Amino acid sequence: MENVIIVGVGFMGGSFALALRESGFTGGVYGIDVNPKALETAKGMGIIDGGFTDYEPLRDMPLSLVVMATPVRTFREIALKLREFTGDGTVVTDLGSVKGKLVYELEDILGPRFVGGHPIAGTEKSGVENSVRGLFTGKKVIITPTERTDRDALRTVVSLWERIGGVVEFMDPYLHDRVFGAVSHLPHAVAFALIDAIERLSGEVDLFRYPGGGFKDFTRIAASDPVMWRDIFLENRENVLRAMDVYAESLSHLRDLIERGDEEGITRFLREAKRRRLSLG
Ligand code: NAD
Repeated sequence: MENVIIVGVGFMGGSFALALRESGFTGGVYGIDVNPKALETAKGMGIIDGGFTDYEPLRDMPLSLVVMATPVRTFREIALKLREFTGDGTVVTDLGSVKGKLVYELEDILGPRFVGGHPIAGTEKSGVENSVRGLFTGKKVIITPTERTDRDALRTVVSLWERIGGVVEFMDPYLHDRVFGAVSHLPHAVAFALIDAIERLSGEVDLFRYPGGGFKDFTRIAASDPVMWRDIFLENRENVLRAMDVYAESLSHLRDLIERGDEEGITRFLREAKRRRLSLG
């Protein structure tokens, strides 16, 4: 590979570029970002060789790989811009948390050398200054090929992830969104809503002055980036709404058991939840 372009030099894009370098990649790593400060920081940290706020400098560059690492609702517009600069030898992939319909739309714009990807690694922190070395080591990376995906492009993306320590798993793009709508997007929605509830429950006492370890553990992810999560909720709207409805039913069931004073029912409910949680390891 010659040049790799990271569009969106934030936490994930920066961590990806770091991982690439650590794996021994000696080609050029360039960033594109709407925020010049992010590019400056990334260059200062040695994460990228150079950065641009527009796409024109890509015109004369042989591009081996482009990685989209911006909030998911910017992907379509970015793909439309990239189309002008990518050639037959360019593979385009992404790190976005939503796949589904978006993968097919990006494939329509970019062609079969687009390969959807989602590393299951991260934190609540954002911004390139928080990039983490070795972020992807031993972590699952979901790759979502379609019937149209170019097999060479797919091999390139898979071997790249393996080279930086990821454990690749293939998944249908729509199944991906049902799975992560439940296990990732729902918990984030719940954490954001819980903070709101505590805020509204604060009357004469500021409840945020008394957070225990449980509250802090549970709500850590509510410190995540609002724009990134707005985009995820909207882009995976159907699955997120369904997961929220099912969660509301579970909460309402527990509420009923408590209201009825059903000791046995509450114990059974909690015991079953504890058993499932412990089985996660
Ligand atoms: P981030 O906020 O740290 O970085 C995003 C970067 O994109 C910022 O530097 C921002 O300036 C830039 N940007 C925004 N709009 C742009 C545009 N139109 N063109 C160019 N640059 C633009 O966010 P992040 O945590 O790195 O998340 C990036 C992507 O990775 C998202 O799609 C997210 O769903 C996905 N993801 C995040 C995590 C996580 O834990 N943070 C985990 C898995 C996947």
